Amino acid sequence: MDRASYLDHLRQGLAGLDAWQRRWPAFERASELELADETVGRILEELVERLHDNYPFFHPRYAGQMLKPPHAIASLAYALAMQINPNNHALDGGPATAGMEREAVGRLARMVGYDEPLGHLTSSGTLANLEALWVARSLHPGKAVAFSSQAHYTHRRMAEVLGMPAVEIAVDDRGRLSLEDLEHKLAAEPIGTVVATAGTTGLGAVDPVDALVAMASERGFRVHVDAAYGGFYRILAGAMPSLVPQGPFTAIARADSVVIDPHKHGLQPYGCGSVLFRDPSVGRFYRHESPYTYFTSAELHLGEISLECSRAGAAAAALWATLQAFPLELDRGFGPVLRATREAALDWAERLRGSDVLALVLEPELDILAFYPLTAGHKASEISAQTDRVFAAGMSAGSESVYLAKLVVPRALVEGRSTGVEWDRPTLTVLRSCLMKPEHRALVPWLHARVEALARTR
Ligand SMILES: *Cc1c(COP(=O)(O)O)cnc(C)c1O
Repeated sequence: MDRASYLDHLRQGLAGLDAWQRRWPAFERASELELADETVGRILEELVERLHDNYPFFHPRYAGQMLKPPHAIASLAYALAMQINPNNHALDGGPATAGMEREAVGRLARMVGYDEPLGHLTSSGTLANLEALWVARSLHPGKAVAFSSQAHYTHRRMAEVLGMPAVEIAVDDRGRLSLEDLEHKLAAEPIGTVVATAGTTGLGAVDPVDALVAMASERGFRVHVDAAYGGFYRILAGAMPSLVPQGPFTAIARADSVVIDPHKHGLQPYGCGSVLFRDPSVGRFYRHESPYTYFTSAELHLGEISLECSRAGAAAAALWATLQAFPLELDRGFGPVLRATREAALDWAERLRGSDVLALVLEPELDILAFYPLTAGHKASEISAQTDRVFAAGMSAGSESVYLAKLVVPRALVEGRSTGVEWDRPTLTVLRSCLMKPEHRALVPWLHARVEALARTR
């Protein structure tokens, strides 16, 4: 969508909202809130100037962290709904956007294979995970929550907030939760909940959700899937097992709860996570008697099944509109978008395998790649220093800049495959790239050549 169309759609939408406002009698706007055009112009000019202090997240040459602007349809829907500013805490806070939230969440639920779940949007993946663990604690009081050493760092924090004992499980040589280590830990102490990550933040590794749900019923623990990053890849997993690991993603249907962040791979602006529970009866843990809640409806409203109170109805409008335009399907909508990101990762991985200056840490399972520069010396400290140099030089190369991220990986994740890294320290700092934009696919040859050139310069 070009700028002209964007502005046309915005203008048309605002006109429609103005027509809605005119159903009520005109009133005098408070003079206290009035602003001179000149003031607005000056402040926004300064704002835009200050916003120049950013990395080019929109550009495919930005291939670093999990960052990209929302799709224009999401941005337009958000901007329009925000004119009204509904609060999805309660049905009466915004009936329209509460309905959109239900529909959007229903689609996410169908994507993972939940029939009649309880679920809602959240303001982030962290809060969504907190909520899932809070429910897990209610069902397994006093028992621990287990997650892998590659799980998102906030799980430990959330366990602390909830006062749950936390157990860290080792990972295998592909960065996935080790079932063997889980067995040891299960034998050593009562574990009520195991968090499986479907797409770790660092490496994009997919934990064995299928094996975990199989173990769970026998061993009596809950399985919570943190698919904040990887959740949308479920679309590819069904029909394209060669692209995305099928077993773990299809097994989410049998897990107890799942978290998916539309503000990661769902083309949304920040402020949009989600949590889904397979068994809707967990709603009983949310009973509350807020004196502020408006009860004009007998239905269970969103505020009654959420840990948070106020939430942007605009976020629900944005996700709803995006899913109208981009269905969660294999052949249209999200499928082709995610496929492009995955193909970009596979292409780059192949080039890295053939490189004499760069080495892949491990085969990517999603669209995240980790790799490091080979140095004359092979010492982990030297490779890490060269990683720092490539990272910094990449960003300050003017019109030839490339933007990557860095990741510290433990020795055990590299050792098995590496050709003779000399371990003078226990970790290796490597380069990391999230190929989140479908435009990355066409740019992989350039990205690879550019990073190789940087890695050759000492
Ligand atoms: C990003 C991420 C989170 C945290 O989500 P926020 O929306 O940033 O709070 C949790 N788990 C995983 C796997 C993530 O990638």
